[in-house]
Amino acid sequence: MKVLVINSGSSSIKYQLLDMNTESVLCTGLVERIGEEEGRLVHKVAPDTEASKKITLEQPIADHEAGMVLAIDLICGPNGVVKDKSEIAAIGHRIVHGGENLHEPTLIDDAVVEELEKIIPLAPLHNPGHLAGIRVARHLFADVPQVVVMDTAYHQTLPPKAYMYALPHELYDELRIRRYGFHGTSHGYVAKEAARLMHRPFETFNCITVHLGNGCSMTATANGKAVDTSMGITPLEGLVMGTRSGDVDPALHALLARTRNMTSEDVDQMLNKESGLKGLCGMNDMRDIHAAIEMGDKKAELALDVQTYRNRKYIGSYMAVLGRVDAIIFTAGIGENDYIVRRNTLQGLDCFGIKIDKMVNAQRASEPLKISTDDSAIEVWVIPTNEELAIARQTKEFVN
Ligand code: ADP
Repeated sequence: MKVLVINSGSSSIKYQLLDMNTESVLCTGLVERIGEEEGRLVHKVAPDTEASKKITLEQPIADHEAGMVLAIDLICGPNGVVKDKSEIAAIGHRIVHGGENLHEPTLIDDAVVEELEKIIPLAPLHNPGHLAGIRVARHLFADVPQVVVMDTAYHQTLPPKAYMYALPHELYDELRIRRYGFHGTSHGYVAKEAARLMHRPFETFNCITVHLGNGCSMTATANGKAVDTSMGITPLEGLVMGTRSGDVDPALHALLARTRNMTSEDVDQMLNKESGLKGLCGMNDMRDIHAAIEMGDKKAELALDVQTYRNRKYIGSYMAVLGRVDAIIFTAGIGENDYIVRRNTLQGLDCFGIKIDKMVNAQRASEPLKISTDDSAIEVWVIPTNEELAIARQTKEFVN
């Protein structure tokens, strides 16, 4: 059974075709700069194998439909990994924000599209792009069942005390302003993987999952259900990210309006695009930050400190939330690759019995790796995330 996973953004479409009988990746692709003067499509065949092949197209790509037609030609054309579109059994669409009503994977129909349109105000950066991808895919794959899989789904189990903000209640009643949480597909995937690797039933598993990529978030899971998470109504709250500030004093908007005449749009832009690691030191890629620290860059050192200190604070608070913690799991670009961030994040937590094996932590692995010592009170793992596989599994399960 072949499942196509689509992650459509405002000016890009990411796709991955998986053979779900073997859970192997047949091809992946990224269509970029849709609607701009020069568009680009990078298509990779059998990316995880020695026979991998890369095709790059550079040409104007007018809209999502044009981008998807180019991709379909590469996937299903004469040299494609499948000979015909009809071999694709189902399509799973990644949706960043499902609001309060969409949680379980759902078959796309007009009502789902309407619901996604309704929650655009909650996810103005993401949902319009998803909708563009859905419209095109429904048109081009009219006979294929298509499913939405929400990034907010895993966090639907948060209790009201964790998802409510201490704001006038009518903001929740009228606008559904509350904590939603994001990266849910990733948190759910690595949490379940950890339980499986530790031979523990997920229903009784307690863990803290630490997703550190361009976007960063942390989730506390108790008895196999998310009970708290660091991102909020939007993916801005919580940890220090590449260009996003994470937590700040909510009085900042008013203060900058008074002192710098900034509009709320200006402040929003600054908090999302000009803050985080980039705001602190001018760089948002952790590899550049380490290189700069080596050269004695004090701002880069500070950025690393601010990020890892915030991580530690959140781990501490989620230990308090959970009581018993079976595992702490690091994942995503930084979480999987950066042993210094992991080491600094866990620094000083030995008083809680958390012990890291320094040699193992410094190893590079593309497979799950336990980095705590055998006598550590809490197991610490590095588990590569795989959101596409998680979406494809949920799509397959739903369609079957
Ligand atoms: P996204 O949130 O866009 O999915 P990723 O999970 O791919 O992002 O993470 C991207 C980030 O991971 C990069 O910006 C970079 O900071 C970090 N990263 C990737 N590889 C490494 C590495 N080898 N060492 C340290 N950081 C890395």
